[in-house]
Amino acid sequence: MPLLANEKVRKIIKDKIMTRNLTIYNSLTRQKEAFSSIQKGHIGMYVCGPTVYNDVHLGNCRTFMSFDLIYRYLLFLGYKVRYVRNITDVGHLLDDGEDRMSKGARLDNLEPMEVAQKYTNGFHDMMKVFNTLNPSIEPQATGHIIEQIEMVEAILKNGYAYEKNGSVYFDTLKFAEKTGEYGKLSGRVIEELISESRDNLKNQDEKNHPSDFAIWMKGSEEHIMKWNSPWSVGFPGWHLECSAMSTKYLGKQFDIHGGGNDLKFPHHENEIAQNVSTCGCQPAKYWMHTNMLLMNGRKMSKSDGNTISPIELFNGDSIHVTKGYSPMVVKFFMLQSHYRSPNDLTNEALLAAEKGFKRLMEANKTLQSLESTISNQASLDLRVRDLIEAAFIDMDDDFTTPRALARLFDLVTIINSLKDGQYSLNDISQPSISDLKSFFRTIIFDIFGLMDESDSNAGPIDGLMHLIIELRQQARTNKDWATSDKIRDTLNDVDIMIKDGKDGTSWNFK
Ligand code: AMP
Ligand code: ZN
Repeated sequence: MPLLANEKVRKIIKDKIMTRNLTIYNSLTRQKEAFSSIQKGHIGMYVCGPTVYNDVHLGNCRTFMSFDLIYRYLLFLGYKVRYVRNITDVGHLLDDGEDRMSKGARLDNLEPMEVAQKYTNGFHDMMKVFNTLNPSIEPQATGHIIEQIEMVEAILKNGYAYEKNGSVYFDTLKFAEKTGEYGKLSGRVIEELISESRDNLKNQDEKNHPSDFAIWMKGSEEHIMKWNSPWSVGFPGWHLECSAMSTKYLGKQFDIHGGGNDLKFPHHENEIAQNVSTCGCQPAKYWMHTNMLLMNGRKMSKSDGNTISPIELFNGDSIHVTKGYSPMVVKFFMLQSHYRSPNDLTNEALLAAEKGFKRLMEANKTLQSLESTISNQASLDLRVRDLIEAAFIDMDDDFTTPRALARLFDLVTIINSLKDGQYSLNDISQPSISDLKSFFRTIIFDIFGLMDESDSNAGPIDGLMHLIIELRQQARTNKDWATSDKIRDTLNDVDIMIKDGKDGTSWNFK
């Protein structure tokens, strides 16, 4: 079970789960739309994963963290989500005609699959560091060559592709004429696309039209990663893997397809063309695109030195930062901007994020240690509940994390006022304190996926709970039911539930 919404917070928004007014900005229609899943209660989501021929960079991390947040919120709302994120381990051709995976292999002196494995491991490690959830399925392009060949066959059979010298090209003009679908996502017309085609320039003259793209490429002698096919020993075109794997695991039509907005064209446009020409229907109901991560106002780019790796950022080992920032500070910084806005990484912004993140974690600690007393001050209660509900409304509004965070900081002010004695605990009712505790834990840990780094992996709490559970076990062994019940009831009062199972006793926050 990947993630469970806290029952108490669910109570607050009871009856609204899955019927909340979730709206999603759909890049295909260029507007926010009310979200409704194709199959009630279920969501199929496909996100283009990393190309594993070098280290994952912070821009990639921003996109994957954004979709992690989206995944977590959909789970929170009660949907059963199948989240598919692929690994691109077949290299795409570079402009000089050399395969990226082979190039990586040549530079590192490794087998191509060794390169893929090395950077896949690195990617997984980084996703763990940022506390993202694993996808439900993580298919690799090299493991789905048969499915890709079958798709090429289907596209050929339906008349939207042609073969030339062992390579197969998608016929964009014919597709555009017959379906009127080409360019819808990127908003471009064929003539504009002519000069921008991203596949092998060497083969341009084989194409009927410059905007046509390869769906199967004949491999040259020196090309390392190649497979048998009806047309040649070669490899699939870049866009094909996502069409084939999304269809295989999510069906011809699924709910959400995502990626960074630099993938809109040509990758996603061509994916749509392949799917429509194979199955006759648009693959995804909602297309979601994240905006780019910038640094000091400019695109992050290795070539002009305007780049920083996640590790350099954590260590502070770069001219662009004055110190190191922890992974959760970086994550908090990412959450401070909406996924569709550009996000500018600067030292000042990180310093501010560090302060904000600490303030939030400290407020949560204060809150969780507050003892509730019986009283009922309706006005403060109403304000607390309004802010909690407002934060969910912000999340329902196309996952607007910056606004939801602002509500949280309004609540932080209330929590700190309680701590400072400006409000007394009598000003807030017990149910409200309890709900606020649950809400904070749910939104910052379960939905935002933050971790309190000062807890150092919750070690102290885990250790303490281990001790308490042992003491209770001793009491039970001694048939001292009064003590064992007292332990359980006292934990219950502070929102910790213990459960006896056949594998022993476990605990969790209520
Ligand atoms: P790639 O490994 O290049 O295929 O990229 C993996 C994902 O990261 C894709 O969804 C890209 O759109 C996304 N991406 C690449 N660069 C950036 C960036 N600077 N900011 C945000 N996302 C990015
Ligand atoms: Zn893709």
